[in-house]
Amino acid sequence: MAKKALVAGGAGFMGSHLCELLLEKSYTVHAIDNLVTGSRQNIQPLVEKGLNWLDVDITSDFYLNESYDEIYNLASPASPIDFEKMPIFILETAARGHKNLLKQAREMNARILYASTSEVYGDPLEHPQKEEYRGNVSTTGPRSCYDEGKRYGEALTMAFRREYAVDTRIVRIFNTYGPRMRPEDGRVIPNFFVQALKGKPLTLYGDGKQTRSFCYIRDEVEGIFALMQSKEFMPVNIGNPTEFSMIQIAEKINQLTGNRAGMIFKPLPTDDPIKRKPDISRAKEILGWAPKYDLQKGLELTHDYFKSIV
Ligand code: UDP
Repeated sequence: MAKKALVAGGAGFMGSHLCELLLEKSYTVHAIDNLVTGSRQNIQPLVEKGLNWLDVDITSDFYLNESYDEIYNLASPASPIDFEKMPIFILETAARGHKNLLKQAREMNARILYASTSEVYGDPLEHPQKEEYRGNVSTTGPRSCYDEGKRYGEALTMAFRREYAVDTRIVRIFNTYGPRMRPEDGRVIPNFFVQALKGKPLTLYGDGKQTRSFCYIRDEVEGIFALMQSKEFMPVNIGNPTEFSMIQIAEKINQLTGNRAGMIFKPLPTDDPIKRKPDISRAKEILGWAPKYDLQKGLELTHDYFKSIV
């Protein structure tokens, strides 16, 4: 019998790619999303392939009418510009929203995966970041709604596991990019592509020497799926450990797009982490998963997407 999955946040960038993967694996897939940051365009082609989509805000009093084998909770705004615009809603999705899903997973005996984040490590003092590292997070800064929300979401997940024996999984997602990112998302890769395709200089924040490690979306959702299928209930990092400075990313995108406008420097946002890189030894060992797309290939595919919409 085909398995049945629910993807909360299914109309978002990552959620829609996960829905696509599950459909390819012959799952019956239902997505819920309130379209705060997700979009109908992301899921329209998937609806034609059998995806069932419902307009649901997980922070509201909603009730799922059907049972699922697997629930993936990817529902949350995740960009620094969202942290400015809707910090209370972000905290609510991690607290009330995730609790609503955990309660219903318990009632229907579903396995539930929580999408946590590398932001639980904050501005890390250990490099690369292993799952055991407890982080360096500001509880009051502009990113705290997301970072502390996700830390609470992890704690809530473990509490439901301990108190009610709910079958839980926790993935810590590192920077991910690819087609279907919002052009106005505010994150570095969409910003750079939109600027480059308009022939404008790329905006580097700070000195541009800060680093991130970017994972192509297909690799990320394959890792998430592999974790859901495994027995591992402690958090697992899923990301690509190849680290780049923002200047290197800007150079690659200007080269790929043929943009001659160069770069300009702007102030570094408060609490912007200086470096980030996942240690993925656990994912490799437990899941047999490792990323397959290098940055060049991933950026080419992302370029094709942004060319079609900008
Ligand atoms: N960044 C940048 N220019 C931009 C957008 C972002 O230099 O137009 C920098 C940002 O300051 C950060 C890095 O790129 O150091 C990654 O930012 P993003 O918002 O993509 O992800 P996060 O900071 O959440 O890892």
